[in-house]
Amino acid sequence: MKSNVKVGTEVRPRSRYTELKRMLEERRRELQAAVQGKIRDVRAEGTWGGKQNDVFDAVESSEADIQDDIEFALIQMKSETLNKVNDALVRLEQGDYGNCFECGEEIAEKRLRALPFAVRCKDCEEAREMAEKRERQLASRRGASSLFFDM
Ligand SMILES: [Zn+2]
Repeated sequence: MKSNVKVGTEVRPRSRYTELKRMLEERRRELQAAVQGKIRDVRAEGTWGGKQNDVFDAVESSEADIQDDIEFALIQMKSETLNKVNDALVRLEQGDYGNCFECGEEIAEKRLRALPFAVRCKDCEEAREMAEKRERQLASRRGASSLFFDM
């Protein structure tokens, strides 16, 4: 592991930046290891090359194929998360990471550890969820009544 401590980061007022950076980099390392490890596994088994033939015997898709699909979906999901982590690191460098999208307040570090891609602070998120729930209730009521009238 290289320690690339950059000079200049100490101008930032608090260790929050350092903490968040460490948290994101840790996550990135884990994801990279997982993605690379999985890709190596799949390649080693030689199953990935046979993917295009699946179309022909899709009807008799065996458990092994399903397993492959799950693996594939998992790798895809992890590499998407990896992209998000990279984005977050870029935003952190620009000073846009970890602040609430709604009120501009800093999102609690604890919250970011649990939800690294949270864009709102807890209060704003809760307010939004409440609003969404109300919205959904209204929509489903509207939906139900229009469905009723259509019949
Ligand atoms: Zn907020």
